[in-house]
Amino acid sequence: MLQPFSASYAMARHRFLEAARARLGEVQSFAIDAPGSEDEALSLDAAIIRPADARALLVITSATHGVEGYCGSGCQLALLGDDGLLAHALRAKVALLLVHALNPYGFSWHSRTNEDNIDLNRNARAFDAAPPPNEGYAQLHPHLVPPQWPPGAQQREAVAAFISAHGFPAYQDAVSRGQYTHPDGVFFGGKARSASLRHFRSLLESHGRGFADIGWIDIHTGLGPWGHGEKIFAGRNDLEEIERARRWWGLDLAVPFAGTSASVAITGQVASLIYEACPEARPTSIALEFGTVALDAMFEAVCGEAWLRSYPHAPTEQAERIREAMRAAFFSDSPIWQGMVLGQFRTTFVQALQGLSFAPRQ
Ligand SMILES: [Zn+2]
Repeated sequence: MLQPFSASYAMARHRFLEAARARLGEVQSFAIDAPGSEDEALSLDAAIIRPADARALLVITSATHGVEGYCGSGCQLALLGDDGLLAHALRAKVALLLVHALNPYGFSWHSRTNEDNIDLNRNARAFDAAPPPNEGYAQLHPHLVPPQWPPGAQQREAVAAFISAHGFPAYQDAVSRGQYTHPDGVFFGGKARSASLRHFRSLLESHGRGFADIGWIDIHTGLGPWGHGEKIFAGRNDLEEIERARRWWGLDLAVPFAGTSASVAITGQVASLIYEACPEARPTSIALEFGTVALDAMFEAVCGEAWLRSYPHAPTEQAERIREAMRAAFFSDSPIWQGMVLGQFRTTFVQALQGLSFAPRQ
C-alpha cells in the first residue's frame, strides 16, 4: 500500500479528493475563508459513498483539531485505498461519510485551533446560553500564554503552584475542558459557532437524513500512551447509548464523565452536533484518540502555538520551531507508530460496521 500519511495539508487534501473521485464517491467542498500556510486554498471536503441499499451511515472525521489531521487524513486515505474494507462496508449496507479536515486552517498551520483560534471540539454549544465557567483557566492563562516564549521561571512556578494546590487532574481539567473567556488562550471554545461546524452540520443533515442508525469515529491524537488508540465515548450521558458503544467497541471503551479516559469531560464537543442535525437517529459515537507525547509536552507545544498567534512577528526560526513542535506533539514519523494507528483504526472501523449491520431494522 502507498504511504497514506501526507507531508502537508495541501498534499493530503489533493490525495483525498483524487482517491474519493476514483471510488466514484460524491464529493462536496466548503471553502474556508483564510489563507493556507503555503498559500493554498483551505477547504472542508467530504466524500460520500452510498450504496442504493444502505441502511445505516458511518461518519469518519479528521482534523477536528487541525494538526491532528496528519493522522486522521492518513487513516481516511488508507480506507479509500482498501478494496477489501470498502467491499465489506458495501456488504454491510453501510454508507460512508468521510469528512476530511474539519479544521483545514489548523491542519495547514500546525494548530489545534481554527482561523479564529477556536477549538472546534469545544465550539458545538448553544451560544445563546451563558458559557460554562472555568475559573481555573482564568487563573492559569497569564502563565500558560505569557508575553514571552518560552515561559520564564516565574510562569513555570505559578503553574507548579496551581498543581500542588489543586492536584494534577484539576490542572488538566482547567486547561483542557474548554474556556470561553480568553480568545487568545488555549482550548478556547469561541463566542459563536464556527464556519466549519456550520458546514459540517449541513453535511450531517443532508446525508444523515433517513438513517435510523449513525455511527461516528472522530480521529484525534495527543492523549494517552504512545500509539495506543483510546476509544473515547463521545455521546451523551445515556446508559443505553454507552452500552451500545460498548457492544460495538468492547469493554475498553473510555467514558470521560465516568473518569475512565485520558481526556477530561469537555464542553461543546463536535459529536453533540448529531443530536441537532439528526434528532431522529440513534447515534453511536467515539473519538479515537492516539497517544503521541507526554501530556506536559503536548500542553507546552499548544501554549507555544497560542503565544505565536499573539506575536505573529516572532523571528521566523522561532515560529518554525514552534510549528514543528506542534507537529511532533500530534503525529509521529515512526513507522511503528503509524502501523499501530492504521491497525487500530481498521479494527475500530470494522467494529462499527459490525455494530451497524446488526442494528435492528426500522
Ligand atoms: Zn483532538
